[in-house]
Amino acid sequence: MSDRKPHSYPRFDSPDEERTHMKQRMAAAFRLFDRFGFNEGVAGHLTGRDPEHPELFWVNPFGLSFGLIRVSDLICVDHEGKVVEGDWPVNTAAFAIHSQIHQARPDVKAAAHTHSPYGRAWSTLGRTLDPLTQDSCAFFEDHALFDDFTGVVLDIEEGRRIADALDGNKAAILRNHGLLTVGGTVDEAAWWYITMERTCQVQLMAEAAHGEPVCIDEEQARRTAKMVGNPMAGWYSFQPLYDKIVADQPDLLD
Ligand SMILES: [Zn+2]
Repeated sequence: MSDRKPHSYPRFDSPDEERTHMKQRMAAAFRLFDRFGFNEGVAGHLTGRDPEHPELFWVNPFGLSFGLIRVSDLICVDHEGKVVEGDWPVNTAAFAIHSQIHQARPDVKAAAHTHSPYGRAWSTLGRTLDPLTQDSCAFFEDHALFDDFTGVVLDIEEGRRIADALDGNKAAILRNHGLLTVGGTVDEAAWWYITMERTCQVQLMAEAAHGEPVCIDEEQARRTAKMVGNPMAGWYSFQPLYDKIVADQPDLLD
């Protein structure tokens, strides 16, 4: 008999317990982002809203490799960008983008953004993704294009415009920049990021084959989106990745 149990959605007895859980998921997501090659120098961030103080969010320390991040390395930032816990600085762009999204979308508990290569390549085309595969339907009628590159995001105003473009969607393509995903849990936001990057890769490959990729028709895409694109499906899809990265790199929990 296997001692492994099927995954079930977590319940918490205290905010402390929920915070620890969230930070473990964040550290694991960073290690996975590293494994999938989403690192580009110091670019990229993942935020998680504090379960007890919704105006605070947890984020990666600016300049620390995704591949080294442990639970104890995560820093906590307030709505003005001040680090309230941790010794490392915060990335100004992380603060500007994420604080505005967390403010505009109370339902968003986590947001992810990196300069991963396929998302970045796709973002230069200035188009949203097509429903070409079952997986890509997760983004059907549920992602936006931020079509207005004005340099490195440094200020709150730019963050607000990205939050406006994102609107009620789970993801946005930031033109000439990269991808951004959000979720009701860290698990969900991280999974949408990983699968969106792959979706960009698949569409780039299909179009590069000089064929005419055939889209899934709208009605089927909408039906499939309900199955593969709902929050629970996003959360569940992250679980095997979490288990594997913790088994391979248990120090991430330190
Ligand atoms: Zn960026």
